Amino acid sequence: MKKLLFLFLAFIIFSCSSEDYKKEYELQKPKPNLSTPDNTVKSYWSFNIWEDTTTFYKMDTTLLEFYSATLKQYLLEKYNKRKKEFKEFHYISKNLIDKVDIESDSRAIVLTKELSYKDDDSFDETKYVFAKQGNKWLLEDIFIKCWNCNGTGETSDYSLYSRIKTTCKYCSGSGWKSQFYED
Ligand SMILES: [Zn+2]
Repeated sequence: MKKLLFLFLAFIIFSCSSEDYKKEYELQKPKPNLSTPDNTVKSYWSFNIWEDTTTFYKMDTTLLEFYSATLKQYLLEKYNKRKKEFKEFHYISKNLIDKVDIESDSRAIVLTKELSYKDDDSFDETKYVFAKQGNKWLLEDIFIKCWNCNGTGETSDYSLYSRIKTTCKYCSGSGWKSQFYED
């Protein structure tokens, strides 16, 4: 919902921003650095921060035709406030690389600790899986530690006399959930 609101607010600034503004941000777009697994992760984070603060370039402004001047003004101010906060400090910049595991010439795993939204106060464990193609370390998948079983792969059902462990239905026992693939 927060993401939707942000995208929606991004429409607003687009209609009010100049071409110069657009160019300025285009120049700040970070180039992917895929030279090592951890550089790819850091570069991916930088791009996500850039994208979060600049998505308005690609937005269709038709939605604005539905809103009154008062509503547009309110939303513009709200968006500007959020953009300023993000430019000063984006929660993604708190992310940490925990462990880099180069398994072979073409496979690697990077474990990280990440916040998933601005007011989040606890880090999620995330796993980046890499395949090397040519001289580039590319993302094959990104996994979040399963919130339901806390990465153990099993959940406990408590009854009066016993504790029964069952396979976690959210991650099918793996302890991780892919950000891209559905089961
Ligand atoms: Zn699970």
